[in-house]
Parts: sequence; C-alpha cells; structure tokens
Amino acid sequence: EFDVLIVGGGPAGAAAAIYAARKGIKTGVLAERFGGQVLDTLGIENFISVKETEGPKLVAQLEQHVKTYDVDVMNLQRAKALHQVGDQLEVELDNGAKLKAKTVIVSTGARWREMNVPGEQEYRNKGVAYCPHCDGPLFKGKRVSVIGGGNSGVEAAIDLAGIVKHVTLFEFDTKLRADAVLQKKLYSLPNVTVILNALTTEVKGDGTKVNGLVYTDRATGESKQVELEGIFVQIGLLPNTEWLKGTLELSNRGEIVVDAKGQTSLDGVFAAGDCTTAPYKQIIIAMGEGSKAALSAFDHLIRQ
Ligand code: FAD
Repeated sequence: EFDVLIVGGGPAGAAAAIYAARKGIKTGVLAERFGGQVLDTLGIENFISVKETEGPKLVAQLEQHVKTYDVDVMNLQRAKALHQVGDQLEVELDNGAKLKAKTVIVSTGARWREMNVPGEQEYRNKGVAYCPHCDGPLFKGKRVSVIGGGNSGVEAAIDLAGIVKHVTLFEFDTKLRADAVLQKKLYSLPNVTVILNALTTEVKGDGTKVNGLVYTDRATGESKQVELEGIFVQIGLLPNTEWLKGTLELSNRGEIVVDAKGQTSLDGVFAAGDCTTAPYKQIIIAMGEGSKAALSAFDHLIRQ
C-alpha cells in the first residue's frame, strides 16, 4: 500500500513525486507516458532559470531527478478507475491490477483539441501551435491566425497582436463566443481581422513550414485561402479525466475541481496541473501545483 499514489507522470506528477518522497513516505507514480505533453514539445523558453531547453531533454532530467529518490515509477500503465474502499483508496488499471493507497494525487494532464484537417499533424511545431504563451514570440513580425472565437481564442488573438504583424481570427459560428469585454478589446486592435462563419479545411505548407490556411466561407460555400506563417489552434483543452466521471467533482469543462491546497471533492484525493480547475496551463505552474498537492497529501497523512 502506498502512502501517496500519483496518477500521471508529467511535470505535475514528477514534482509531486519528488516532494512526497522527500518526506520519507511510500510514493508511487503511475503514468501512461512519463513526461506527458512535455515529450511533444520542441523548444521551451519559459521554464524559469533555464533559458532554453527541449521537451525530451527536460523529461530526461525530470526522470533522473525522480529516480534519485525511492519512488516506484510504473510507466506505460493506464488508470481506468478510482474507488474508495473503506478508508483506503484503490486505483484500478487497464490491465485489471488494483493499487491501494492512503492518498492519491491525480495529475493526468490534458490534451489540445485538434482541427483534424489535412496538414495539421504534418506542420505541428512547424507553424501549427497550440500555446500562445509558449510559442507566440516565435512568430514575432509574422502573420498568424487563431482558430476559435471563445475566450481562449480571443485572448490568444489579443496577446499575439502585440507580438506579431497581423492576426486573423477564424470562428466557425456566426458570432464570437468570448466575453464582451474581450471582444471589444479585440475589435479595437488595428492588426486583427475577424472572419466569422468559417470552417477551416486545410493547413498549407512548403514541406518544411506553414504558408497558408484554407477555409470554407459557410455563407457562400466558397473555399478561400489566407497566406500566413503561423496557426494557433484554440478550440479547447480536454482534461484527461473521463475515467473519474462520477467519482470526483468535475467542472463543466471536465476539469477536476480543486481548492487552493489541491484537495478534490473526495477525502484524501488531491489533484494538480492541467487536469484541474487551476488556471493557466504551463509546465512551471503544473510543477508548483504538483508540489503543493504532495505537501497537502502529507499534511493529510500526519493527521490520520
Ligand atoms: P501532462 O504533461 O499532460 O501529463 C499528464 C500525465 O498523465 C502523462 O504522464 C500522461 O501519460 C498521464 N496520464 C493521462 N491519463 C492517464 C491515465 N488514465 N492513467 C495513467 N496516466 C495517465 N508549457 C510551458 O510552460 N512552456 C512551453 O513551452 C510549452 N509548450 C507546449 C507545447 C505543446 C505542443 C504542448 C502540447 C504543451 C506545451 N506546454 C508548454 C504546456 C505544458 O506541456 C503543460 O502545461 C504541462 O505539461 C502540464 O503538466 P501536467 O503534469 O499537468 O500534465
């Protein structure tokens, strides 16, 4: 039986593991893919104190750091359910095994919703981006588009307009869904064009990088192309919490509802990182939240 069982091996889970193990308690990390989203990231320039690194390199360092402690790392294992059995918690794996723990930290992260159009995968990290905080500065002085007119899309467009030459925002619907104050700000910017009622259909490139975006004007059915260098897809971040429906309180977006200490709706279960309601999904924030959740779990254990 683990004192702390961490489900998810991204930055949040790795930080939680180190903080928990340093308390001398029995710690385990279960991960479908150790490293999480960081494995899919090329350049990282906002991991404070490290001017520049790459995803796979940071993951190797995370793994090395975790392994200097007595942590049971169970990689390539997927959790499918969490149960409370008496005063114990039980995590059930895809392979049928059951792990018991006194406390659980859920850090299963999230995934970006994709457009699912030709060229999107091919040009991922070659012009197709999902995180304006991360990749915005790479497009300084260039033309970009933002896909999605919800709050995150409009926020991204406003943010990018201050860095890039021009932003074209595409929305599928006939109106933007973002808050009125954001829309007002967006429409006040001289280097932003908004295209409503548009279905994006293809990412175009020259073989090495993006050079255009094709969309259908839904009013006329006409196909049009815009020339640009970058495409920021902002049509939703999906938390990996499907397996917790009915067990933990989730927000309407599927995020695990946590308080300031990372406590969830179930006693002894904490959560951290991109899978939670904590705002701003970033590596350094996930690590901070993971550390916090581990300290909260320890606090919970010493009171039992
Ligand atoms: P994740 O990194 O998503 O890790 C989740 C972990 O949980 C993984 O190990 C996963 O395999 C595991 N898991 C999921 N479901 C289960 C399950 N059922 N059972 C067991 N394990 C499970 N942030 C920055 O700060 N700077 C950047 O430059 C940057 N660039 C990015 C570029 C890209 C392309 C992407 C996609 C994201 C980028 N981010 C960046 C965001 C950053 O990667 C995330 O905020 C961060 O990884 C979140 O950490 P996390 O630990 O909460 O979740």
